[in-house]
Amino acid sequence: MRALPGSEMLSLWERGAARHALDRSALLAAAARPDWPAEDIADLPLGAINASLLQLRMACFGPRIDGHADCPACGERLALALDVHELLGAACEHDAPGSTRGIEVAGLHVRAPTLRDLAAVAHEADAARALLTHCTLAGDASQLDDAALQAVEQGLDALDPLADLALALQCVACGHADLVQLDAGQLMWDELEAQALRLLREVHLLASAYGWSEAQILALTPARRASYLAMTGPP
Ligand SMILES: [Zn+2]
Repeated sequence: MRALPGSEMLSLWERGAARHALDRSALLAAAARPDWPAEDIADLPLGAINASLLQLRMACFGPRIDGHADCPACGERLALALDVHELLGAACEHDAPGSTRGIEVAGLHVRAPTLRDLAAVAHEADAARALLTHCTLAGDASQLDDAALQAVEQGLDALDPLADLALALQCVACGHADLVQLDAGQLMWDELEAQALRLLREVHLLASAYGWSEAQILALTPARRASYLAMTGPP
């Protein structure tokens, strides 16, 4: 996967800024995988979307992710250091557009959720249950007991391992163990936004100093841009 040039990052940031988080994920996945038909992206299994977002993240910003999570028991802020290769390691074959895999478990025929499914249940009080009902092709999800629900969950996890990027975390302060969810779309968006704002500032400084156009400045390699910026003096 290629790193996005600065001009494309700015364009994506501009197009995504006013959109819902799920639409941003679709926008970023389309940028990551121009070989996928754009109209199919909302209907691909979430694991394929997450894989494309993580690969884009790695191409643009490298494989290491430094983040943090707050311990739900004591509030301690915990540092997270992740490697995208390890996150992607759980993936089997990435889904080709149009894939309609499903599983039979606990009397249900269920398919892997997509961005379109998440959008459809986003406003439901019990979104997890609504999502399952939404993705059930045959059977009655409302009749399942907890053990059956757990079996369905495990089945879906095996079907599409990257759909749910859950990380096991243990608090260094109180020992509380928990799972934290990594939102690949939000992660990529936050970094894209930070990079877009950095680029705009660089364009502003170099345009002010040299009178170059935005296109000329963005066409410079990052190393040249940094060298010229250093010559314009402290910001
Ligand atoms: Zn804690």
